[in-house]
Amino acid sequence: MFNGPLPYILALVLAAVICGAAAVYAWRFRLAPLTAALTGLLVCSAIYSLGYALELNTDSLDHMLILNKVQYVGIAFIPFFWILLCARFAGRETWLRRPVLAIPFFLSLTTLVLNVTNSVHHLFYRAVSLDSSGPFPVIVLDKGVWFWIHIVYTHLALIAGTALLIRMRQKAPSRYRSQAAVLLIGAGLLWIGLFVYILGLTPHRIDTTPLAMTLAGPVLAWGLLRYRFLDLVPVARDSVFAGMRDGAVVIDLQDRIVDVNAAAAEIIPGLSPAAIGTKLGDALPDQKELAALLQTTGREEASIRVGDGEGIRHYLARLSPIADRRRRLLGRALILTDVTEQVLLMRRLENLATIDELTGAYNRRHFFNVGKAEIARAWRYGHPLSIIILDLDHFKRVNDTWGHEAGDRVLQEACRIIKSRMRSIDIFGRHGGEEFAVLLPETPPDQAAAVAERLRASLADHQVKVAGDASVSITASIGVAGALRIREESIDSLIRSADAAMYKAKEAGRNCVRLAAPAA
Ligand code: GH3
Ligand code: MG
Ligand code: MG
Repeated sequence: MFNGPLPYILALVLAAVICGAAAVYAWRFRLAPLTAALTGLLVCSAIYSLGYALELNTDSLDHMLILNKVQYVGIAFIPFFWILLCARFAGRETWLRRPVLAIPFFLSLTTLVLNVTNSVHHLFYRAVSLDSSGPFPVIVLDKGVWFWIHIVYTHLALIAGTALLIRMRQKAPSRYRSQAAVLLIGAGLLWIGLFVYILGLTPHRIDTTPLAMTLAGPVLAWGLLRYRFLDLVPVARDSVFAGMRDGAVVIDLQDRIVDVNAAAAEIIPGLSPAAIGTKLGDALPDQKELAALLQTTGREEASIRVGDGEGIRHYLARLSPIADRRRRLLGRALILTDVTEQVLLMRRLENLATIDELTGAYNRRHFFNVGKAEIARAWRYGHPLSIIILDLDHFKRVNDTWGHEAGDRVLQEACRIIKSRMRSIDIFGRHGGEEFAVLLPETPPDQAAAVAERLRASLADHQVKVAGDASVSITASIGVAGALRIREESIDSLIRSADAAMYKAKEAGRNCVRLAAPAA
């Protein structure tokens, strides 16, 4: 029944079937960039093998010639798809541009056309004959010009693809190296097949290339599909990781750094690629928050700060588990997102809501709120508490004489002096234009009056530069009110009493302190 070498024919058919099956399987991932090239290669190999198996099985020269043309549908395009696959896998975008890819495509197409139309021009085979001297008849092809061009082209494609794979394997992160190695094994099989045939090492002019091709095809398919990397092209994935604006660090289950991107190294110098292999905690001894984040399993976010002073940056550190498809934990990914702008904006908004911009003192509303809480506490425990209201004297004159800006500076200077005289528990607020309030917890009214007197004296001692060499002195009229044991929860009446005392000080000639009469 079979005329040719039966085992070889069967091997070819089997290889073709495997290639076909691999092509069908690969097509399931058809949206992935590598699939078109891989499927093309597999289909071409299957056509080549099957055509050659049938050619070996016939003894008619006409049939052989037809089957030879069928095989060339595969043979012609194998180099094209090989180049495409290697360039895609290695992420060589320059190779993947249309004008560049047009060159191998045109060569492949020419090979096919010239082979099919050979009887017209004999550019592919100068002559064909049948050699029936062996155990089975084989076609003898007197090769023409384009046949050799195609052989050179195929070799160049194989060399270029192999070179791409080798360079990619040298540069690629370790997790892609095994994949690149599988592709190189596939390339190696192609080389062996080609050389055995070209050097005429096979008996009876049997072509070993189709078998090599069909063995290489499934090896390539397996290598690429095993990790389902068809849908995650390694290089694309790497460039996303490398190009992220967020810092990214991958750590294994022992918290050792497995990978870092460039942004991470920029954020924290300790996270350079040199740190790969060291424990994340050891690489960042100063980051207590980060260390705490690594320890806990429940918490997934932490705010961290890097640098100090003006250059301080704020980051949101998020830790997320990395698991494989069977949900086994492999490690964790740390993502560092720069939130400096947001943090500063939040602070500014908070300040705007609570702090008077010119003087840095609490604004009226915030002073009121904080004061309320303070007075409620004093009332609960029956503790002493006092309040000082301070109004600058004849402040209008400063404005009128030296201008509003000079007035502002005088206000700031007065605030600086007041603050320097206060304890940390005292609460300082801007009560009005040039009127300030100080709440003194745990301070009986007579002590507060003494504080107010010292404050008045410091202010009066001070000269504030307004323009050039000119300076003004500032004085203030101060009213004090308070109680040894706070009996009322309201701050309003206390402020009213202090205010009234302050007006008494104004009436008494300014630059003096008046103490409100204790509440009945
Ligand atoms: P006195 O309290 O001793 O009776 O006299 P005064 O001149 O200080 O009193 P008055 O309350 O009449 O004037 C307060 C002035 O303070 C009026 C206003 O122009 C000025 N002032 C209020 N807020 C600011 C401010 O933020 N910057 C400047 N430069 N001046 C301010
Ligand atoms: Mg005033
Ligand atoms: Mg006033």
